[in-house]
Order: sequence, then structure tokens, then C-alpha cells
Amino acid sequence: SRRWAKTAEILRELEEKCATPNAKLKQIADAMTVEMHAGLASEGGSKLKMLISYVDNLPTGDEEGVYYALDLGGTNFRVLRVQLAGNSGIKSQEFAEVSIPPQLMVGTSQALFDYIAAELAKFVADEGDKYHLPPGRQRELGFTFSFPVMQLSIDSGNLIRWTKGFSIHDMVGQDVVAELTRAMKGQGLDMRVSALVNDTVGTLAGGRYDDKDVVIAVILGTGSNAAYVERAQAIPKWHGPHPKSGEMVINMEWGNFRSSQLPLTEYDIALDAESLNPSEQIFEKMISGMYLGELFRRVLYKMADEAALFGDIVPPNLKTPFILRTPEMSAMHHDTSPDLQVVGNKMKDILEISNTSLKTRKVVGEVCNIIATRGARLAASGILGILRKLGRDTVTNGETTKTVIAMDGGLYEHYTKYSECMENTLHELVGDKVSDTIKLVHSNDGSGIGAALLAASHSRYL
Ligand code: ADP
Ligand code: MG
Repeated sequence: SRRWAKTAEILRELEEKCATPNAKLKQIADAMTVEMHAGLASEGGSKLKMLISYVDNLPTGDEEGVYYALDLGGTNFRVLRVQLAGNSGIKSQEFAEVSIPPQLMVGTSQALFDYIAAELAKFVADEGDKYHLPPGRQRELGFTFSFPVMQLSIDSGNLIRWTKGFSIHDMVGQDVVAELTRAMKGQGLDMRVSALVNDTVGTLAGGRYDDKDVVIAVILGTGSNAAYVERAQAIPKWHGPHPKSGEMVINMEWGNFRSSQLPLTEYDIALDAESLNPSEQIFEKMISGMYLGELFRRVLYKMADEAALFGDIVPPNLKTPFILRTPEMSAMHHDTSPDLQVVGNKMKDILEISNTSLKTRKVVGEVCNIIATRGARLAASGILGILRKLGRDTVTNGETTKTVIAMDGGLYEHYTKYSECMENTLHELVGDKVSDTIKLVHSNDGSGIGAALLAASHSRYL
């Protein structure tokens, strides 16, 4: 019938436009490498900000004492306390997770930071007298703030812009540490921010604590970003003192990468145009958790509208932006029941589309597959770009340098088909031999622990 012909046509076109053959991924990786060089050469030299983190030493394992971390960067924020016992590792850790009321994501900086500081104060109050600090000693905090920040030092930095659905105008250009410090004071909380870190930098630090071969960190969560260890010599825009280690961690802000090579579809273009940050974070909008479900919805909407896939009228819920979230998409994609029961139930529960045929559910599953596969493969090409920049995409005879990549984020952690596809693609791209030298490890909440470790190594009491 006409319905199926049109549906098949939309599906075929989607598949064609989302195609990411290996040759294309290699070109994208090359474009990423070129942009990395440009971003390191001069401030504003590239869409890749290649931000200097002021972290020139990663954790050694000798860190000692009680430190706090606060992780703000998506739908939830976490507060964490770790007791570091030098060589014997982490003695204890406790955390609390609080969701951020949506209205605070688009309100004022004062409202957001007051809320966060109040939760942090509660967390500290609940510990009672358990953690005695020497008299006169202030508690110290690593602040993981997962938005682009122009750092002025390890413990200060101005917000460049918001991403991932946050939009608080009065904060842009302001020092986020000053704002948090003000809010903590307002709560009567005697605590100092010792380190301001991006979540990628925190994950790198947490990953390095566990494994000395960690040199890259990648986040695939609500948004996406990467950080890696660069040679200070290779950062022309760095005019500060040469670090003793000879190294500097760079926060790439890879979410803002874009290239004419990226397989953009009409769905990507519309999603971007209607987003809070049009024409920004194009790579992020193709690969990360905040957006995959929304791309999926947009394709289904077109099938409903132009092919009447779900009947003569477009189901009203399908018109609601972000109604299909990536965890739901993931559940549908992982549906292994022969009659695609999970797909059917989600269609009914979320979109109020009942009595879908198996044929329809198969199409829906295929749409998930195309979108997730494209995202995962593009993420792999980003990693290849970093490996190339570091000269770790090849092995010369006899060399055994190991490259460990610390991975984190809800998308990576829970969307198995996505993470497997990403890892397989990376393997394909670098080949068997190099693949043997590369390891991806899940650094569970590495960013929080990493921030606490960096607070320890930048303590004012050392
Ligand atoms: P954040 O990135 O906000 O700091 P997380 O790393 O926990 O937090 O990532 C949360 C994101 O991960 C969610 O916004 C969602 O997109 C994605 N996610 C969470 N659970 C799943 C899941 N089961 N399947 C697919 N994606 C998921
Ligand atoms: Mg996070």
C-alpha cells in the first residue's frame, strides 16, 4: 500500500543520510585532529575550544585526607565525600544525588547556586562530628562543572556559555567559583573550592588514580565531551609557566565540533534550529543522550505525518518535543522479544499509540538502530581523532605503549548497543594491532572522585 511505500522511502532515506562508512569516519577523525591543532594554536582559533584546565599533574595515589566534590552538569547533581588514605587508596566514600528542578535550569544563577549550596550544606550537616578537621582548617571541595569554562586558574573560571538545556543569562561570563562561594557563605557553609574541573577532566583524574595508562577521558551522558593529556610544548596558546610535568590536561569541548563531513539530516537541522543553542554543539546533538531520543521522535513524526504510519491523524503526543527520552529509546532498541513487546508497550505508554502491528514495531526498532548506530560510530571517530593527535593510532615495531581511555556517562553505561557499536567501530578503524594497545574502561563516577582527588592535590594546606 501507499502507507508502506512511503514509510519505506523515509526509512531508506534516513539510512542513506545517516551512513557512516569507515572511510568517512576517518575523514571526520582527520577533521577533528585539524581542529584540535587550530584550537591549541590560538584562543578562538577553532570551534574546538581546547580549554586549558590548569591540571598539569594527575593523581599519583598518594593523596590523603577528607575531601568533597560537587558534580553539576546535567539533570542531577551529586555531592560526594571521600576519605583518601594515601597508598591504601580510598578508605570511604559517600554521596548524595539530587535532581535539579527544571525551572532552575533556565532561571537565575542565584536561584540555582543557592539551591545547590543548600543541598551541599545538608550533606555536610548530616555527617555530624564524624569527620574532624584540625582546628582552623576549612573543608575543601572539588567542583565538577560540566559546561565550557575559560579557566583563569585551577580554582576560578568564567562560564563561556551554557549547553544541554541550561540557559541562565546572568551567569554567562561570570566566575562560577565566585558564585558557588557566595552561595555557600549564604548557607553558613565553611568550605573552599580548591579545584574547578570539567567532568571530562575529573574522569581523567579518577581514571588515572586507578590506572596509570589513562590519557583520554570521554563522557557520553546527557551531553558529550572529551579531555586528554597534551604535551605543554604542543600548546602554542599557553603562555604560562612551563609545567614541571611537561604536560597539561586539555578539555576539548568536542561537543561543539562540526565539519562538512558530518552526516547531517533534515532532522538534525530542525532539532538544532529549535534548540536553546542553535548552531552550537552540533556533534553533541548527533551523539549524546539528551538528543538521540528527540531525533528518534522527529523521524517517527515524519512517518506519521507523511506516510500515515500510525493512522490518518498524527498522534498528538508525537508532536511534543523531547517526549521520547533516550532511556526509552534504548529499551525499545534492546527489545529481543519476538513480537517486540517492549516497543509496543512504550508506543502505547508514551505516545498513546496502541495496537501497532509487528511490521510497524519493526520499523520503529530500525529507526532506533539507525540513529544510535550513527551516534556511536561518530563518537568512535572522535576518539580516533584524539588518538591521531597523540600519535597513538599506529604502532611501530616492538612498541608497547598502552592507551587507556576512561569512559563515563549514563549513555555509555546503559545503552549497551551504543557502547558496543562504538567500541567495535573504534576497533575497525584502528585495526587489530593497534586495538590490542587500546583499552576502554568504565570509570564509574570517576568525575566526582577525580574532582575530590584534584582538590586534594591542590589543597592549600599542603
Ligand atoms: P549527566 O550527563 O547529566 O551528568 P549521566 O552521565 O548520568 O548524567 O547521564 C545521563 C544521561 O544518560 C541521560 O540524560 C540519558 O540521556 C542517558 N541515559 C541514562 N540512562 C540511560 C539508558 N538506560 N539508556 C540510554 N541512555 C541513558
Ligand atoms: Mg555527569
